[in-house]
Amino acid sequence: MYKGQDKKELKKQLRSLFKSMDFVSSNFRDSDKMGKKEFQAFFNIYQQLGLAWEFLGLQCKHWDGYKKTKDKKEICKICGKVKGADDFYILLTRKGPLKLGVKVKPNSQKTFETKEDAQIVNETIDFYGALVNVDVHNSYKSRLFGKGIKMAAERIVKVKEENVECSVDEHVIYIRLRDKDRKVGRKRYGGFPWEIRKKDLKHFPVIFDFDEKYRFLGLTILR
Ligand SMILES: [Zn+2]
Repeated sequence: MYKGQDKKELKKQLRSLFKSMDFVSSNFRDSDKMGKKEFQAFFNIYQQLGLAWEFLGLQCKHWDGYKKTKDKKEICKICGKVKGADDFYILLTRKGPLKLGVKVKPNSQKTFETKEDAQIVNETIDFYGALVNVDVHNSYKSRLFGKGIKMAAERIVKVKEENVECSVDEHVIYIRLRDKDRKVGRKRYGGFPWEIRKKDLKHFPVIFDFDEKYRFLGLTILR
């Protein structure tokens, strides 16, 4: 098959695929009227169509160039893939872990003028009620504190479940318990365990895990 034929055929297949995807997603819109079984069937069909999109997209050489979307991304006029993110994929499999995107880390030594220019990804997924946020950016000059402060390149992952927030970056693992009844303006302290008096330590429902050489292995917080 010569190139022109390739392109024509692919365009045709993608057009009909997008029609099918639109049809399924329009059914999702009034999914509250749907039974559980029916919803599952539509969900599965959408996943399968998504897979077909992935495969067809791989054949696209983005011959017709890109168009700008409202959120300033450039997407291929034919296959709808985002420019410069060809390795990005959404794949919800039935077996094994669900996968959304590929792992990203800071990828430049440069300090950028603005956070937007330095940002690689900052996205949140609401996953069965738990919020997961991944924020990856290169170094940039912050104007937050008047004079430009250089913010370091980072990859920060945050998970929020009910009143518990956990944030993990290269240097710190931070767990915060949000208490709705806590009055605004009340003080917040911090300290290493050996700095706190034994009788005060007893307020903290924390268990340390360690090995025979007292190497730290983890901790448990009782709720
Ligand atoms: Zn394309």
